[in-house]
Amino acid sequence: MSRRILIIGAGLTGLALANGLRRAEGVEVTVVEQAPVITEAGWAIALTGRHFDALRQLGLTPEELAADPFDRMVMFDPDTSAPVGVDARSGMIMSRSELQRWLWRPVGDLVRTGITPITAHDNGSRVEVTFSDGAGGEFDAVIGADGINSWTRRTVLGGPDFSYADSAVVRFKVPNTEGLDVVGSTSDGRLGYFLVDGGRAMHGMVFLPGVADNHRGRSLTELAEDFRGLRGPLRSLVDGMLTEPDSFYANINQVVADEWARGRIALAGDAAHAMSPRLGQGAGVGLEDAALLADLLTLPDLPVEAALTGYATIRRPLARHVQQRSHEATQRVGQRGAALGFGALAELRS
Ligand SMILES: Cc1cc2nc3c(=O)[nH]c(=O)nc-3n(C[C@H](O)[C@H](O)[C@H](O)COP(=O)(O)OP(=O)(O)OC[C@H]3O[C@@H](n4cnc5c(N)ncnc54)[C@H](O)[C@@H]3O)c2cc1C
Repeated sequence: MSRRILIIGAGLTGLALANGLRRAEGVEVTVVEQAPVITEAGWAIALTGRHFDALRQLGLTPEELAADPFDRMVMFDPDTSAPVGVDARSGMIMSRSELQRWLWRPVGDLVRTGITPITAHDNGSRVEVTFSDGAGGEFDAVIGADGINSWTRRTVLGGPDFSYADSAVVRFKVPNTEGLDVVGSTSDGRLGYFLVDGGRAMHGMVFLPGVADNHRGRSLTELAEDFRGLRGPLRSLVDGMLTEPDSFYANINQVVADEWARGRIALAGDAAHAMSPRLGQGAGVGLEDAALLADLLTLPDLPVEAALTGYATIRRPLARHVQQRSHEATQRVGQRGAALGFGALAELRS
């Protein structure tokens, strides 16, 4: 088999796909990345068993990654601080930067940084692409793994822009001064934490439902005011907020694209289905896209168009399901019992 494949974007999805494709004989992979240097933010990311399976399917060994496992989340009443439930939600928390570096290592030689595509034309037998450095090339398939603001989705396929998903989120990291060994959240889902760095730190999240940019100007100390009555494990998180650690504010946006593949061009990862991080699924669903794409594109007797159509037919409803559950869970934030909605994804656990 001889096949030339272009991946646009060296994020988690694009790099995962490059890993899966490079294993096949006769497949030539090029990845273009707009950033001159890969500088992924070091915030934590959650992956579940399904996502680990996808990494294995791509020929990787996720056990190599340093991760903090969790098997349940304890919910505390936001008014009384009493524990009111335990959600049997399990997964691994890891450094997003480390995950990206790990995915990069085996395929870094395939990545051309500081380059964007300018045009992509599917002539029926190849995709002709021109690049920002003046070069051009012909590819059997082009995969847009270029993130939430995807050029491939918007410009090449004429797809939609992202839309606001009714909440913002602030993330921060504070020392685990109390030596807590279980992850927790208020039962209304507004405040919660995972344990990271081998349990030495808490990765806190404040969800801010409402209009875009709501509370953007408030410091962590000011946001902590909303939780000043909390006692128990979440108290140490609130105390940590009062020390004003570095924090990261983001409006939560999502992408609902009806068309994932046309001819020899397809979308993967956030480009196809960016979703609320509420259930910690976005990156993992991109890894699952990559695993299926790699399998189908390396089947010697399957034409590229059929591989991409098959990929979109299988993956789109699954990703949409996870996206909808994530969106619904985001919309419930602030309501009593909202954080107990993680069970919504129980049927997807492997
Ligand atoms: C606050 C927050 C918390 C999250 N928490 C979790 C979590 O716990 N678990 C989870 O699974 N997911 C989580 N996610 C989602 C996760 O981060 C994303 O789903 C994931 O990073 C998407 O990877 P991607 O490779 O598809 O896109 P990206 O990471 O956006 O990568 C796209 C790449 O394409 C490049 N690019 C863009 N345009 C072009 C172009 N025209 N030419 C060349 N290159 C281009 C970009 O520079 C980038 O490197 C979270 C997201 C947010 C915002």
